[in-house]
Amino acid sequence: MLTNDQLAQWDRENFFHPSTHLAQHARGETATRVIRTAKGCHIEDRDGVKLLDAFAGLYCVNVGYGRQEIAEAIADQARELAYYHAYVGHGTEASITLSKMILDRAPKGMSKVYFGQSGSDANETNVKLIWYYNNILGRPEKKKIISRWRGYHGSGLVTGSLTGLELFHKKFDLPLSQVIHTDAPYYFRRPDANMTEAQFTAHLVAELEALIEREGADTIAAFIGEPVLGTGGIVPPPEGYWPAMQAVLRKHDILLVADEVVTGFGRLGTMFGSDHYGMTPDLITIAKGLTSAYAPLSGSIVGDRMWKVLEQGTDENGAIGHGWTYSAHPIGAAAGVANLKLLDDLNLVQNAGEVGAYLNAAMTAALGDHPNVGDVRGEGMLCAVEFVKDREKREVFDAADKIGPQVSGALLAEGVIGRAMPQGDILGFAPPFCLTRAEADEVVEKTARAVAKVLG
Ligand code: PMP
Repeated sequence: MLTNDQLAQWDRENFFHPSTHLAQHARGETATRVIRTAKGCHIEDRDGVKLLDAFAGLYCVNVGYGRQEIAEAIADQARELAYYHAYVGHGTEASITLSKMILDRAPKGMSKVYFGQSGSDANETNVKLIWYYNNILGRPEKKKIISRWRGYHGSGLVTGSLTGLELFHKKFDLPLSQVIHTDAPYYFRRPDANMTEAQFTAHLVAELEALIEREGADTIAAFIGEPVLGTGGIVPPPEGYWPAMQAVLRKHDILLVADEVVTGFGRLGTMFGSDHYGMTPDLITIAKGLTSAYAPLSGSIVGDRMWKVLEQGTDENGAIGHGWTYSAHPIGAAAGVANLKLLDDLNLVQNAGEVGAYLNAAMTAALGDHPNVGDVRGEGMLCAVEFVKDREKREVFDAADKIGPQVSGALLAEGVIGRAMPQGDILGFAPPFCLTRAEADEVVEKTARAVAKVLG
């Protein structure tokens, strides 16, 4: 068997890791962590160290690790038919069944599912479909997409542009000019501490209206948003946000894309975040929870209003010029079918809602009064703790102090994985839906100890 040292050396010499400090890693200053196996909410490395993964990988292993039902479905599919494409009307039992299962669970008014491999390529598809739609309608100028600062929608060229985080733009010549950003619905960072949630919503709506006015509604095609901001800091929207924003979008004939890569399939305790917040999107992006990451698969769920127009386009012009080799990959589709069945059979969406509420309440009770905790927030099985230098003034720590990474490091030493979110001192949690109350208690107790170690 290879030694850990051998693997670490090969890793440093050969492996270009995503979202990693390249020079530090090559110098061996960041550890090579070789994960060997996992079960339920726990992962285990090659040394036998077990960690409670309170971020479900990258908020994706929603049904938990080691589910034999999904592993068997994948193996059966690979033995029977590992691959066939989905072009010109081809499909497999798994891909066709999965498209029906998705539509059966989707919010009202959705028409079809287009399958991809990742959240990024699904959003790429969305932007292309939006442009195609407006070209069919004879509106070639109506192309800009509004996204939010702190939104996360992928790291491709257009999707990295939609993402509203500096790290994803800097040095990549992004954002592209077709993407414009508006303010994040980040109540903790509201411009005036005296604003109520409803007043903050009104403020954001006014900002959106001003942006549309400045740019011209006839140049704006769509607005994209996550029901709850994820990577940007796990930020649920203020009261009334989505219906109020959507009313403005409708008035200006601007499409709404709900990016449900994190929230889709149960993370908020409802099947979709759109249902949770009263959104009626034209497109829904799905990925992670569709297969619980047992195989890569994503999708764009297309709403009725767009579908009718897209169909007209292909009548005139022949086949739609958009497709991936791996669209509707049978192994991903088989994983998706088995995964959605498990969600139902084990009542995992309900558990996400109930244990998620328990986790959020316990985290608030344990840390809500700490002098360096500005905010504890969450929804369903999403929770975040935001650290501040001064609670009253909501003053941030110096970025160089790296308080978020320090706390997540101290928490890791306690045996629990939380994620230092990429912008600001925010520790995020997004556990698998099978988390028990006892495991939630463990996450909270160990987080409180880690916070005490770093901040006193
Ligand atoms: N949208 C959202 C809301 C996401 O959280 C992510 C990934 N974290 C993506 C899109 C991109 O997905 P992927 O990394 O699979 O490309």
